Amino acid sequence: MKIISACLCGINCKYNGGNNLVPALKELAEKENALLVCPETMGGLPVPRSACEIKGGTGLDVIAGHARVTDTEGCDLTDYFLAGAYEVLTMAKKAGIDSAILKSRSPSCGAGKIYDGSFKSRLIDGDGVTSALLKLHDIQVITEADI
Ligand code: SF4
Repeated sequence: MKIISACLCGINCKYNGGNNLVPALKELAEKENALLVCPETMGGLPVPRSACEIKGGTGLDVIAGHARVTDTEGCDLTDYFLAGAYEVLTMAKKAGIDSAILKSRSPSCGAGKIYDGSFKSRLIDGDGVTSALLKLHDIQVITEADI
């Protein structure tokens, strides 16, 4: 069993109210009865919501308390991102899941590359908050871009 980002399977949980459907992943999710998650809405954020990026580091730095997640207006939404990440981790542990396919570049789900906090589409090396937390707990994370 796998975790897959809900937006990749056509669920309209993206910040702008849309999704990031990848038909092959939706099929895979149905075939393997994957656990669909959206850490941002699971952490309490609404749809639609403001776009967010990690400022001052990566998801790992957010978990360590050294960086924050802010929206385009500068509002600090870090606590929502952490709550969602820990909720996903709890669900993964309960279900015995050891791998995830998450949405690339997201401040929650991104793995390997994320936006740099400038809201100028600039990428840096690093993981989103949820991906970083799952990796810390030995859950393998890849993105739709790796498939
Ligand atoms: S990238 Fe992750 S947090 Fe963002 S909408 Fe998709 S599932 Fe939700």
